[in-house]
Amino acid sequence: MEKIIAASGNKDKIKEIEAITRRFGMVVVSMKEAGILVDDIEENGTTFEENSYIKAKTIWDISHKTTIADDSGLEVDYLDGAPGIYSARFAGEDCNYTRNNEKLLGLLEGVPCDERTARFVTVITMILEDGEVIVARGECPGHIAEDFLGEGGFGYDPVFVPEGYSESFAQMGTDAKNRIGHRARALEKLTELLTERGL
Ligand code: IMP
Repeated sequence: MEKIIAASGNKDKIKEIEAITRRFGMVVVSMKEAGILVDDIEENGTTFEENSYIKAKTIWDISHKTTIADDSGLEVDYLDGAPGIYSARFAGEDCNYTRNNEKLLGLLEGVPCDERTARFVTVITMILEDGEVIVARGECPGHIAEDFLGEGGFGYDPVFVPEGYSESFAQMGTDAKNRIGHRARALEKLTELLTERGL
């Protein structure tokens, strides 16, 4: 398979996508490596699917090469699915990963463990060179911890404990996360869909 351009400026995500796609025999390059420079792509969709498509299509329109985009986030049941598609900027314009997590833990203060259920969602859109669009969703259920647990990973990894485990994504290390996580599941699904098409 030819090189696939990752329509993302998020280094953490690209690192994970590269690590996972390698297992499936795909070679992913960043937009920078592909020589594509765009300002922030406006994600004005209302679902992960729409935002993922917007990102992939923006880069495909420029390159006409196979493009992959990931839109992802954390859905917390107690917060009716928030932060969801707004995960990146949950704590406002000047937010960072720590502030987003602090806001989340604050909103869940005193909420018992069985009401702290949540899931990470990733929707991957791949647009093939000929314009065909393939969409794959991956989810990873779990719960929100009561405090920061571990220093690894990125984003909400320190506060998310996947179902069936006692460690957070930040504690379990990237190899384990990349086997059971939402992004890995979406990429597995994508591989299935590509295989069905004989690609
Ligand atoms: P996006 O770039 O709009 O898809 O924003 C995704 C945001 O969700 C990121 O900035 C992170 O805060 C969060 N996020 C997505 N995937 C993960 C993950 O694997 N671990 C932790 N946080 C994540």
